[in-house]
Amino acid sequence: MFGWFGKRAAPVPLLDEGLWESATLPYLFMRGMPPGDAERLRRLASDFLDRKQFSATHGLEITPFMHVQVAAQAVILVLELGLDWYDGWSDIIVYPGQFAPEREFVDENGIVHQVNDPLAGEAWLGGPVILSYEDVALAGDERARVAGYNVVIHEFAHKLDMLNGAPNGYPPLHKGMSLSAWKEAFAGAYEDFRLRVDEADAGRWGRGAALDALPIDPYAAESPAEFFAVVSEAFFETPEWLEPAYPAVYGQLREFYRQDPLGRLPAP
Ligand SMILES: [Zn+2]
Repeated sequence: MFGWFGKRAAPVPLLDEGLWESATLPYLFMRGMPPGDAERLRRLASDFLDRKQFSATHGLEITPFMHVQVAAQAVILVLELGLDWYDGWSDIIVYPGQFAPEREFVDENGIVHQVNDPLAGEAWLGGPVILSYEDVALAGDERARVAGYNVVIHEFAHKLDMLNGAPNGYPPLHKGMSLSAWKEAFAGAYEDFRLRVDEADAGRWGRGAALDALPIDPYAAESPAEFFAVVSEAFFETPEWLEPAYPAVYGQLREFYRQDPLGRLPAP
């Protein structure tokens, strides 16, 4: 008899529906998601978990629920791009909470500094994504979260940015997108945002309140790479704040991610 030539891998089983719904329901980026898109997202999350290797530190046990929380937030960015955008690396390392790796850096005077700032997440060029589980869970905690803060979306946006080298705020754009339009939108918004953060810092009404009034996380003012990661968080989580503040950036992100999260929301 003739047999099959070669062996085809069995399709990855779809994540359990109840588990999927309970893990993803609270996320802001799920608001207004059409059922067909939510189903494709579930398929993508199932395949993501098949392709990526999770490990935990400090005795943390990663449950199926936690896997789904990470996967759902990671794949929302590539719903219309495909999982291949996350090729080339496989490890996801989960800490129970924020972590403070010892790092050395050399300043412009050649002096070596030791730092160990606490981190919620990290993305390595060609290497792992590292996440604090407390921060992963926070975005799904309706009482405790800061809307627009999403460490998983943030780190996976860095991963997309790194597809064409060290992170700089310019991921590889699609055919038909204009690099000059991207640069114009992002450079203008970044400069404006840095001024707003400086003003908030100098404000007489108190720094905290002024920073809270900003449309995106003030961490975006750190660098163009952080700006791209933070506006990506806002694009999916709080598009109703991002679009009015930086419509040109929103428009570029809509072309890049090929999604319109604001369009999913009911009109105010
Ligand atoms: Zn970052």
